[in-house]
Amino acid sequence: MLAQVLAFAARFKTGKTFAVYNPADGVHIADVPDMGAEETHAAIAAAKAAFPLWAVKTANERAAIMRKWHGLIIEHKDALGHLLTLEQGKPLVEGIGEVAFGAGFVEWFAEEGKRLYGDIVPPHMPDRRCLVLKQPIGVVGAITPWNFPSAMITRKVAPALAAGCTIVLKPAEDTPLSALALAMLAEQAGFPAGVINIVTAASAPEVAGVLTSHPDVRKISFTGSTRVGKILMAQCASTVKKLSLELGGNAPFIVFDDADLDAAVQGALATKFRNAGQTCVSANRFYVQASVMADFVARLTKAISELPVGSGFHAQTRVGPLINKAAIDKVSGLVSDALAKGAQATLGGDRHVLGGNFYAPTVLTGLTPDMEIAAAEIFGPVVALYPFETEAEVIQLANDTPYGLASYFWARDIGRIFRVGEALEYGMVGVNEILSGHPGTPFGGVKESGQGREGSRYGLDDFVEIKYLAIGGLN
Ligand code: NAP
Repeated sequence: MLAQVLAFAARFKTGKTFAVYNPADGVHIADVPDMGAEETHAAIAAAKAAFPLWAVKTANERAAIMRKWHGLIIEHKDALGHLLTLEQGKPLVEGIGEVAFGAGFVEWFAEEGKRLYGDIVPPHMPDRRCLVLKQPIGVVGAITPWNFPSAMITRKVAPALAAGCTIVLKPAEDTPLSALALAMLAEQAGFPAGVINIVTAASAPEVAGVLTSHPDVRKISFTGSTRVGKILMAQCASTVKKLSLELGGNAPFIVFDDADLDAAVQGALATKFRNAGQTCVSANRFYVQASVMADFVARLTKAISELPVGSGFHAQTRVGPLINKAAIDKVSGLVSDALAKGAQATLGGDRHVLGGNFYAPTVLTGLTPDMEIAAAEIFGPVVALYPFETEAEVIQLANDTPYGLASYFWARDIGRIFRVGEALEYGMVGVNEILSGHPGTPFGGVKESGQGREGSRYGLDDFVEIKYLAIGGLN
């Protein structure tokens, strides 16, 4: 797959390349085209030229090509998963799982595009008819992160294509190979030239600067940090672009005293250690009711101590490396700061003996609000535990953040389940479950975690304009 992808990428004759490395061992994997402003302008022009031809196709015609793309992704899912693990580091089972999960959006939106219904509104005059049409927005600029190099692309590209939009995609610098592989398979599936355009780049601001300021780009769909989301939002103001933003999180994970503690431990493992804690929906602050704190910490510490750490290509690995040096320095700094200010590590607390980008799974107690970790998105395999006494107190603590993406709580009292579920200021609440995603459900955040939704029929609405067609004189 790598050789095919590099042959596909070789057509972009930029004269410049940038290197891609394996985060598990630092080995150089490949060099890919380093595109800039000039190539971004060309990609936008191609997307603009392709738009009228793609938009005018019937939903069935678009779906037929999308289903072919889906079939090719599934046919090659093992090779795509291998490529993903090579450049991103997550365990191979997660890499292949992500490819299949991401392909699900292509299949689901191929079908959902057929149900992009408008409305007929009862008229206010006898000779009038009032129609509401949904039309594709136009050229969409998509910017995606490295933590899900495949699914974060399909989750925005699939609804855009289904709605009739064309795309210019800039993937993350650390993980461009999965994106190039998807673009290569899209071409094989028969998307017309210009419908999907990829811009791999070492300088994100250069490419994003063109995408956000160009009048022919009608929408930006971004997944990444809140910091960069705010930059893009400001840049889009000059041309009043529509924006979908999937940004950072600070997910609370609340364990009440009536919870099934073993189920809560399994949930904690799944949401904290998937992708070594590098997901936007990773539990970030664990609040445990004081009466069950000691029991929960003991069970969780034991379960985490049994998670094998290593290369994503070792069959038993559950926790892979972090993405790069900056990531491990950040996690290491947060834990050192907490320990220096009095926290205790019941497990880990330092870099892993494997060295490089590996961090030891860590459990911290005795945390206080003055520690940096209390407000940061950790993005690593570190569990930060805080005790609480009452339901009202923990709701206040959980909501005391500018973020509002995912949240979780574990409880069995049915009244509490509704009270807490409705009180949490988050776009998604997992109750006795970890929000295992599927394309039919809306994914997204409130507050500084973003705007818009991906997945579900609401995700399709993010790529259409509403037009009111008023017809008069119908005597
Ligand atoms: P990031 O630094 O914001 O990067 C995301 C994308 O933006 C990358 O393509 C990056 O390019 C680009 N970028 C970086 N700086 C830019 C700038 N100044 N102008 C324009 N584009 C720029 O985020 P990340 O570290 O890759 O990803 C982790 C973050 O994403 C976390 O905060 C996580 O919570 C969030 N996330 C959110 C969701 C969600 O659905 N809400 C899903 C996944 C991740 P380069 O790679 O070339 O720097």
